[in-house]
Amino acid sequence: MENKIKPFGKCTKCGRPTMEVSLINTRCILKFKKQNKKNIIERCTGTYRSMVGISDCKECSTCYGKQEKCSTCYDIGWVSSRN
Ligand SMILES: [Zn+2]
Ligand SMILES: [Zn+2]
Repeated sequence: MENKIKPFGKCTKCGRPTMEVSLINTRCILKFKKQNKKNIIERCTGTYRSMVGISDCKECSTCYGKQEKCSTCYDIGWVSSRN
């Protein structure tokens, strides 16, 4: 078994995990299209908080941690287990 890196934090709003330690306690970088308004791109208003343990995240069941163009885990290979 290879040693996989666990995300360091996740967004308080959308649950997006991040492996960037420098992003902890900063605003989420996720951008998405506003509902019913095609041309307006909104940025997530959540903040990255550090995850305490492995129980906070699980391997992505869509890409199985392969991190390839996955819209479920945003290519991180891990998703929050508390959504
Ligand atoms: Zn977010
Ligand atoms: Zn995935």
